Amino acid sequence: MPNGKPANVRCVQLGDHHECLLFGQPDRPSFCEGLKPAPEMCGDSRQEALLWLGLMETATQPDRGAAK
Ligand code: SF4
Repeated sequence: MPNGKPANVRCVQLGDHHECLLFGQPDRPSFCEGLKPAPEMCGDSRQEALLWLGLMETATQPDRGAAK
C-alpha cells in the first residue's frame, strides 16, 4: 500500500488466515516491524483484538488527534 493503509481498510498484505504475508521480509513496513503486541491489544479473542483496533483507529483519526 504505497500511500499507507487508511483506517478501516484491510491491509492488502493480510493473508486469508489473517497472517501478515510480509512477516520476516525486508519490505515489511518499519511501523509493522516495530509494533510489539501487548495483552491489551490482543485480548482473548479475535473479536476483542478487532474491538481494540477499532478504538485505536477512531482515536487516531486526523480530526480527533491527540494534538488537539
Ligand atoms: S503487519 Fe503490516 S504489512 Fe503485515 S498485514 Fe499487518 S498492516 Fe499489513
